[in-house]
This record gives sequence, C-alpha cells and structure tokens, in this order.
Amino acid sequence: MASGNPFYDDLRNKPEVIDPPESEDLVEIVSESSVNDPAQIALKPNLTVSSSVRELLECPVCLNAMYPPIHQCSNGHTLCSGCKPRVHNRCPTCRHELGNIRCLALEKVAASLELPCKYQSYGCMGIYPYYSKLKHESQCIFRPYNCPYAGSECTVMGDIPYLVAHLKDDHKVDMHNGSTFNHRYVKQNPHEVENATWMLTVFSCFGQYFCLHFEAFQLGMAPVYMAFLRFMGDDNESKNYSYSLEVGGNGRKMSWQGVPRSIRDSHKKVRDSFDGLIIQRNMALFFSGGDRKELKLRVTGRIWKEQ
Ligand SMILES: [Zn+2]
Ligand SMILES: [Zn+2]
Ligand SMILES: [Zn+2]
Ligand SMILES: [Zn+2]
Repeated sequence: MASGNPFYDDLRNKPEVIDPPESEDLVEIVSESSVNDPAQIALKPNLTVSSSVRELLECPVCLNAMYPPIHQCSNGHTLCSGCKPRVHNRCPTCRHELGNIRCLALEKVAASLELPCKYQSYGCMGIYPYYSKLKHESQCIFRPYNCPYAGSECTVMGDIPYLVAHLKDDHKVDMHNGSTFNHRYVKQNPHEVENATWMLTVFSCFGQYFCLHFEAFQLGMAPVYMAFLRFMGDDNESKNYSYSLEVGGNGRKMSWQGVPRSIRDSHKKVRDSFDGLIIQRNMALFFSGGDRKELKLRVTGRIWKEQ
C-alpha cells in the first residue's frame, strides 16, 4: 500500500492536489453507476449536468470552486470573491472594468448542485449540496491524516495504514506490538540547550496504533522533557483509551495518567498544551543519578481500553 497506489504516490509528491479533477471524477461516477441500482439512476442526470456546471463554477484566476458572492464583469466573465480585490478592478478575462456586479444566476445554479465528498477515494460515500460540501469536507472522518512525525515538516498525508507504513519505511520509527512499554532514553550531554529533540515510537494494540512522543524542549529559560501519547485515529475514538506513564530512577518516581490525543491535533498543539508527563531537567538529572553528566530516563507505560 505504501507505494503501489498511484493516488497515494500523487499525494506524496503534490500534497496540495488532494482534489482530483472534478469533471473526470464525475464522469467516472456516472460510468460506474449500476443500471440496476435505482438510487444511482436517480443521481445520474444531476451528476452529468454538474460536471459541465462545475467548470463554470471554477474561478478563472485561482481555479478554485467559487462561492457567493460570485462576481462578474459587464461582459459576463465571472470571478471569485477572493480574487476580486487582487485584479485592481479589471476583469482578468477581457480587461474591462469589473465594477460590482454579482452573478446571482450562477450562485443559484451552484445552490442546486449536489456533489460527492472529495474524499470519496478514501471511502466517504456522502453527497452534499454545493454550499455545504466544503464544511463537510473540513470535518469528514475519511479526510486523510497528516504524518504524525514530529521532527520535520513532513507533508505526507494518508489514511492510518498508509501512515503506519510511511513512519516505518521513511522515518525509520520503532514499531512495538503490545500495550505496555519500557523505554530508556539516554543523552550524553544533558546540559546542551536543545530546542527540539524528539523520539517517536509506534505501538500497536487493541487493533489501533498509538504514537509515543518523547522530547526535550525549552520552556521559557528552562529545558524540560515531555512524554505523551497520541492516538492514530479520530478524536471521538481516542477517548475510549487511557494511558499511564511512569518515569523514575535513583529512588524517585513520577507518574502521569492521561487520555491519548488524536493525531488530528498537531504534535505541537499537544506539546504546548502540556497534556502529558512533563519532567523538569533538574528532576530528570535526579532520576538519572550518577554525576549528573548523563541523562538516563526510564519511562514505562501502559495503554488500556476504557469500558
Ligand atoms: Zn479566484
Ligand atoms: Zn470580462
Ligand atoms: Zn466526506
Ligand atoms: Zn512523514
């Protein structure tokens, strides 16, 4: 799945091109529709018409779909409201003065359209009125996830199985089976001021995947270490799980119990909300024992499913 699927390969190279060409997409739906399925027959005329109307609804400047207010020049060329302020009152198609004319007819045609969710290829079967499609897509449970790897600005997106393979193959992340863990983080020079040191381990249990983050960062003047768990799935499902973390050594111990955060929340958002086990560096050095020259933290933990 990591590289065999041309759609995913396309996503990887050009992450902004999530939306497949609309007209092709629609033609495909029509040709795929079963003659024996009355629901599909009912949709057929609407979708056939909409593929050409969709082209009319494409802004000639930014090529995005237009939403009200849709503007037009005195010759009838249309333009989206986002591009209008940027063309200095000149129609980009005929160079005539643009003025302030709304294209109500096109706005009304758009309102009559029903289109499939753009995440259809990810499994969403929803069909939505033109003006509510964007809102649905921003919350669609089939929308792809961003890569949860914290250390780089990785732009890869995909569903969970795809991202798990990506983390393993491309980020060389450690994968563990089971719901308990016991990790040792060792750092040679703990007095170095590091702003972003991160480690990620992926756990597979309960048929789900979890990301354990461990990182060092600067909080004001003080370096701190933080460990937290993220759930590879949606927010509502992440609440079915809990986890505990314990860090200790040298006769001292600290523990934390939390709810894994969905990877829909960025790694930075979770970190900045302090929703995890936070260890001040001084305390981390107590745990490490010895001469405080080396950071040695043992983090144990457990993930469980709530009833
Ligand atoms: Zn535009
Ligand atoms: Zn014009
Ligand atoms: Zn959807
Ligand atoms: Zn990545």
